[in-house]
Amino acid sequence: MDDRLTGLIDRTKGFLDKEEGFRLYTVARDAGRLGPCLEIGSYCGKSTLYLGAGCREAGSVLFSVDHHTGSEEQQPGEGYFDPETYDVRQGRMDTFPLFRKALIQGDLEDTVVPIVSKSAVAARRWATPLGLVFIDGGHSFPAAFTDYQSWVGHIMPGGYLMVHDIFKNPEEGGQAPYYVYQKALASGLFHELPMTKTLGVLKRLACGELPEDLPK
Ligand code: SAH
Ligand code: MG
Repeated sequence: MDDRLTGLIDRTKGFLDKEEGFRLYTVARDAGRLGPCLEIGSYCGKSTLYLGAGCREAGSVLFSVDHHTGSEEQQPGEGYFDPETYDVRQGRMDTFPLFRKALIQGDLEDTVVPIVSKSAVAARRWATPLGLVFIDGGHSFPAAFTDYQSWVGHIMPGGYLMVHDIFKNPEEGGQAPYYVYQKALASGLFHELPMTKTLGVLKRLACGELPEDLPK
């Protein structure tokens, strides 16, 4: 990643640590060789710039899904509200203009396919196998679980599932992302890779691969 892109990422609003972002980039670079990648929760494009840069290097594509009207905690009066994301004409949040600006400035318009939709609607007739799914959308239990169950079945053998905002200690944060992370592990279909801060990284077993804990 060049200095121009890292400078743009620093100026882009979002909820992602630099180390986590760099991990998104390196995993996307690998996953992009398998197939297209998909994220849920674009917001203003911070994670998209990292994932998109990795996909671009791999010659791949990133589908970036967000209804762009914000999560519960980002609404006016809530803890993570940012007035610059509010559109007075619509009378609601709209992060799409800022997201689009980030894509243009990051020279990612030939790599990133924005999908302005609820995750579950975009998933309804989805039929494309994916090299990577990154879940960073709504943080209620129903929202996080819906994202997981909508997309997990599309991850290719050898592909990745990444989940943001994993707090193993409930005192540090909400438990919905950790819940879906554990569900994925319990399925037996994924290897657990080292986490980067609150970013969980799971790799789907390749065709014919056996899990490490398989009884002899
Ligand atoms: N990945 C971003 C942060 C995402 S914040 C970053 O790097 O900064 C969570 C985003 O999820 C918000 O933009 C919100 O609009 C979106 N979101 C929440 N629930 C959603 C749903 N059901 N479908 C699509 N997007 C959703
Ligand atoms: Mg997050």
